[in-house]
Amino acid sequence: MHLHAVLLPDGSDPVDLWVADGRLTLDPQDAAESLPGGWALPGLVDAHAHLSIDTAGGGRDLGDPDLVESNYRAHLHGGVLLVRDVGAVPGAVLPDGDPEGPRLLRSGRYLAPAGRYVPGLYEGVEAGALVEAALVEVAAGAAWVKVIADFPPNFPRGRAEPNYDLETLTRLVEAAHAAGARVAAHVTGAALADVVAAGVDSVEHGLRMDEDALTALGRRGGAWTPTLGMTIEMLGEEKFERLVQRFSPLLARAEAAGVTVLAGTDTRPPGSLPLEVALLQRCGMAPADALAAASTAARRYLGLPGLEPGAPADLVCYPADPRDDPEVLASPSAVVVGGRRVT
Ligand SMILES: [Zn+2]
Repeated sequence: MHLHAVLLPDGSDPVDLWVADGRLTLDPQDAAESLPGGWALPGLVDAHAHLSIDTAGGGRDLGDPDLVESNYRAHLHGGVLLVRDVGAVPGAVLPDGDPEGPRLLRSGRYLAPAGRYVPGLYEGVEAGALVEAALVEVAAGAAWVKVIADFPPNFPRGRAEPNYDLETLTRLVEAAHAAGARVAAHVTGAALADVVAAGVDSVEHGLRMDEDALTALGRRGGAWTPTLGMTIEMLGEEKFERLVQRFSPLLARAEAAGVTVLAGTDTRPPGSLPLEVALLQRCGMAPADALAAASTAARRYLGLPGLEPGAPADLVCYPADPRDDPEVLASPSAVVVGGRRVT
């Protein structure tokens, strides 16, 4: 295959790349199939997805194998070539290493104490059993561990309160890191300072993110997934606009502070990343930075290369520049996974 395209998110002039043996190369290849030109990414990244939840509203049961499979395929056709699943329901089995599917990072099941998360999505894990439960997930192939760090005790009403204390969270992070995994923490309220102090790798939601937490998170190269599409749906436009005012200076400064911003659709349907990119722009990120949060910067943070010689040939082509209009991301003209063209 031969690609002649502007490489996003930063490129300005088209470059030429070829595919040989499933990898990208600068060496011209004979009789190469031409990919549609224009603009290209190494695929989108959905860093906060739940394959075992019916986010598209098809009426299927939590964890249903057909639901998991259709969510997984929907990501592929939207040009999403890397998915981080951040919480599976009990009993769900997620795909494992399909060479023609998106690359998948799993976090195993949600970890929360009894009565302190959405009923039906989890089985309670008390503080004394947290490390052991996390290590079971890592032993089963989880690259990440997902802890629900705070939640309203009287859900669906009231304010979120911490689910585990700082010492418990610190032990969890140390054990996960020692086992080679990273920790993502759901935080909407009071646990923000604790998860940052405990050394959690990525803050999910982080509705109360502030300067101090951002600075501390960035000092050790952490990440923040603000899940804005889910949040605007939850808060409504008026409250969301107040969040925009608070988040804008933080998201504009995140990269300089050392924090990787990650785009994640959460409970929005697969294929909602264009909305997420548009909302990151609305919250103060430059168009190229918002696009990086949904592609190259997220891949780098999650351990995959971009469009460079020697990298696996994961690439997605677009007929127009998504920096001018994120909606362009919804309609890729070609999707290539590991050197195989799938659409
Ligand atoms: Zn979530």
